[in-house]
Order: sequence, then structure tokens, then C-alpha cells
Amino acid sequence: MCGIVGYIGNKNCVPILINGLKRLEYRGYDSAGIGIVNNGHSDVIKRKGKVSILEKDIEKLNLNSNLGIAHTRWATHGVPNETNAHPHFNSDKSIFVIHNGIIENYQTLRKGLQKFGYQFITQTDSEVIPHLIDSFIKQGYNLFNAVRASLGELEGTYGLAIIYSKEPDKLVVARKGSPLVLGVGDGENFVASDVSAIIAHTKQVVYLEDGEVVEVFKDHFVTKNLDEDGEIEKEVHQISMTLDELDKGGYQHFMLKEIMEQPDSVCNSMRGRILFDEGTAKLGGLENVAKQLAESKRIIISACGTSWHSGMVGEYMLEQFARIPTEVEYASEFRYRNPIVNKDDAILFISQSGETADTLAALREAKIRGALCLGICNVVGSSIARETHGGVYTHAGPEIGVASTKAFTSQLIVLALITLLIARKRDMSLVDGQAIVKELEMLPDKISKILKMNKQIEEIAGKFKDAKNFLYLGRGYNFPVALEGALKLKEISYIHAEGYPAAEMKHGPIALIDDNMPAVFIAPKDSTYEKIISNIEEVRARKGRIIAIASEDDDSIDRLVDYSIKIPDTIRMLMPVLTVIPLQLLAYHIAVKKGLNVDQPRNLAKSVTVE
Ligand code: GLU
Repeated sequence: MCGIVGYIGNKNCVPILINGLKRLEYRGYDSAGIGIVNNGHSDVIKRKGKVSILEKDIEKLNLNSNLGIAHTRWATHGVPNETNAHPHFNSDKSIFVIHNGIIENYQTLRKGLQKFGYQFITQTDSEVIPHLIDSFIKQGYNLFNAVRASLGELEGTYGLAIIYSKEPDKLVVARKGSPLVLGVGDGENFVASDVSAIIAHTKQVVYLEDGEVVEVFKDHFVTKNLDEDGEIEKEVHQISMTLDELDKGGYQHFMLKEIMEQPDSVCNSMRGRILFDEGTAKLGGLENVAKQLAESKRIIISACGTSWHSGMVGEYMLEQFARIPTEVEYASEFRYRNPIVNKDDAILFISQSGETADTLAALREAKIRGALCLGICNVVGSSIARETHGGVYTHAGPEIGVASTKAFTSQLIVLALITLLIARKRDMSLVDGQAIVKELEMLPDKISKILKMNKQIEEIAGKFKDAKNFLYLGRGYNFPVALEGALKLKEISYIHAEGYPAAEMKHGPIALIDDNMPAVFIAPKDSTYEKIISNIEEVRARKGRIIAIASEDDDSIDRLVDYSIKIPDTIRMLMPVLTVIPLQLLAYHIAVKKGLNVDQPRNLAKSVTVE
């Protein structure tokens, strides 16, 4: 995910682009850049870090131009540095391209272009695009047709804005899988990843659809499909939202926006990584170490907080399918207890930010002891990503809300992919691998279905907002989800909550149950269902109030519980990706109903960079 903004008109585009980038910074903020064309002359300025750094340096240059594009990056391929920042360009810097998305076949395209003498200076997937366009222009295409021909070669997703110094009366934009809007002005036009970047200038917008390519001039624009020549009539919408609402995509809080993004973020975590025919996963960051990983004698997962919970799910997956002994360690405990680490161990360090101090310290300790150290991080180029021997990015996009939601589900996807990769190298059959892949691919739609229950969950939240304590109970793969559900509630609603394996309840927590104590049971129909039902009966007998997360075809549970949230089924190892969603929404709505600051809960920071 990243932010794109472009301008064509009579004004100086530079301040318009910089202000637009600032509004888009929530979409990515590891580096930023701007490309302009003025009287046949082109300029590009890029900086590592926040937009403010770029802004300061640009102010000194006194640039002026009526045509330009700008980008704030959230790296997927290549560390965040000045060279890898967008715009990318061809060798004579006449074509500038900004890109949001992932080009899955960039390595093949890159090799092909290199054979024709094209030189690459970045590590990004995006850089193939200006060179491809250049190659078509050299064959006699104009910019628009060169862009369309290039798009025909790309696999993956993109939101693109392109300018060319030899055709300075236009910018060309295209969309497939990444959002893009046009802002229609008076003698000027804008493009952006979302309307927040352009709303200060116009409220008239046109939403682009996948497969559309647009030639944007200062006083009109022409929209066509990728492979048809007829012009598409586009509807112009009048927008009325406020700027603050827009930053959050129309949601009241980043947390809710991020919960709602999960069909996409989960999809992005899998994109380009599934090999259906082979029933396995392709993970570039593990290619050099995959054999060693599959042969390791033991796997340790080291993490903190929510990532520790995803690690627990990972332990269940790895032991069930890869059959390698796996244990999960709090990163904060790891280096202070002289752990046994052997050279044939592999250690997975999980951290959304990649900067979690405890996890980083554990990684450094493990490296000294000679284990294979791998990272699962969301932030590309972060310390953990750099210091490990290999790893997998979750590609969930920036997570702003302090309570982690989409990063968690993306970590689960990556852990499932790693499990698949190892298990298929050991003794999982092709058929079993394909069955898992098939279930993985169905998850985004199932998540969307659960998100549609938002209103129902909000109503349930209203009934429980004054509770002082909560118990979350689950078994097997859903035990870590119980822990995560309880953590979400604690973090943002300040209600005391505990997660327990459901059967453990009778060894202690059952003493707490009375008619004031709500219990959330995660009770989908799996092999432990009958046992969980017995646990529900035990709570009921003590007058506890019960919310159940149950399978959509489970009609019998309703007579046992006060409220049920019915969700679609999947295989057991992937169930946590679904069962956690209602728990995120429940915590969110309880906190909102209590009038609390959901995005910045007291005493907590997004990334814990102190031990
Ligand atoms: N894949 C591109 C990169 O790593 C674009 C990333 C994005 O969409 O944020 O630069």
C-alpha cells in the first residue's frame, strides 16, 4: 500500500503534490518522491523517510511546474531508501512512474529487459514499468498505447500514474487491484489513491475501476479499457465527507478501518505466493534457507503480544503438518533465561513493526548461538527484517491503530504458507497441500461475510459494555484466539479479561463465574465441539452470560447461549483467521460505547521499541 497523487493544470503542482502526499501518509511513510515535467525538462527528487523530509529539501529548490506526480511508499520489494523510492524512470529520465501494488512477474520482465540493454538501479518490482513503457515507445507507440501494451505484460496489482516529458499535455493513470480516483477541477485535474489528497481542491471525483486506463489532460480526460478502444463514460460523483473522515476511509477509527480491510490485507499476504498445481507456497525470502528450515530439528517462535498469539497458532500448524517440534517463547524472556539453542534449530521472530525491542534483542542473542534466524514482519527494511537470515513480509499495509488487527491475520496467513512450504518438503501429500491452498484462497470472501455482521456484533457489545471482567475460552487452534480476544478487550476497553483453554476453566477460573461474568466461547464445529458444549453447560449452570462464536449451520447452540455469532467454516488450521474477526469487532464496539480512545489507548504505544 502506498499513496499516489498527480496534477495537471495551470498552477504550480509542487505544493499541491506535497500537501496531497501528507494526507496520504497513513498509506505508507518509509520514503517519498516527486517527479515533474516542465518545458520538456524533467526533475525527480526522492528522500528516505517521511514526507516532511522531502518537503524541506524541495522548498530550497524553488521548483515550478504544471505537471507532476508524487508518491509516499510502503515498500514491498527492496528496502526503503532513496534509490528505491518512487518515481521510477527510464534511462534518460523522460518517463516517470509511480506505482502502488506488487508486480508478481517482475523478475522475468527484468531479465527480459536486461537482455535488451535496459539497466536497473533499484531493487523494486516497480522499476520494470518505466523500462517496459520505454521499450514500446521506441517501437513507435505513443505514451497511452505504450502504457496499455506494457500493462498487458504485467501480472499482479497496480495503481499507476505516469508522465512523459515528450508528451507534456497529459498524465496517464491505470488501475488493477489498487485504488485510484480522478479529481475533476476547472482547467485542472488531479489523480490520487484516495480523495483525501485532492479534496482541498475539488469535490468532483471519478472512481476508476479495475482494467481502466485514463489519459488525463488539464481540461478533460479519456477513459478506456485495457484492451478495447471505445471510450468509457464515467460518472462524476460529488463528495461531502470531511477530511478527517476521509483519512480513515470514512470509518470513525483506524482500528475499524483496519478490521474492515482484512479481506484485502489477507489477500495481499498470499498474493503471488501460492502454487496451486504443486499444492505449496513460494516464498522468495526463504528460498535460500528453505532446505535448512525443512531439515531443522526444532522450531522456536519468538514474539511479544499479539504476535506471540499468532506464534502459538503457528506452533499448532507446524507440529500438525510439518511434524517438527515447535515451541513458542516470549521474546522478553528468551535471552534472560539462558535458553538452549542448537545449530540445527530454526527460530522465527514475529513482529509487525520489525522493531520490537524485546524481539530484536532475542534475535541478536539467537544469532550468537548459531541458529537459523528468520523474520515475519510487516515493515519492509525494518531492523528484524534486515538482521535475520531470511524471512517473509506480511504485506498487510501500514497498521496505525495501536491494537493490532490486520497484522495478526496476515501473520497467520504467512505462518500457514511457511507450514505448507516445510510440510510439502517433508511428507505432506500433493492432495493435502492443494486442499489447504484451496481453503486459503477462500478466506477473503469468508472474512467479508463475517464483517457484514458488524451491526449485530455492535448490538451485543452494547449489552456487555459495563462488565468488569470477561473470560474468553477456546480449544485447540482457537485457544490462542481466546488469548487474542481477551488482549484486544484489555487493550482498548480497559476491562479485565482472561483467555483460557476451555477445559482448563474447571481448574480455577470457574470459581469466578456468576451472573456478572460474561464468557465468550469460541465454539465452531470441529473435533472438540462436543467438549466445548460441555464447558458451555458448566458456565450456564452457574448463571454466567455467554456469547458464542459458532459455525453458521449450528442451530442447536442457540438454546445454550445468550448470544451467538455464526461464522463460515474452514479447515481447523485456518479457523483462527475467521474466529478472531468477531472478537476484534466486539472489543472495538465495547470500547467505543465506553467512549474510549480506540486508536490510542492509554499507556500503550504502537511499536514497543524499549525492553
Ligand atoms: N511494490 C512497490 C514497492 O515496493 C510499491 C509498494 C506499495 O504499493 O507501497 O516499491
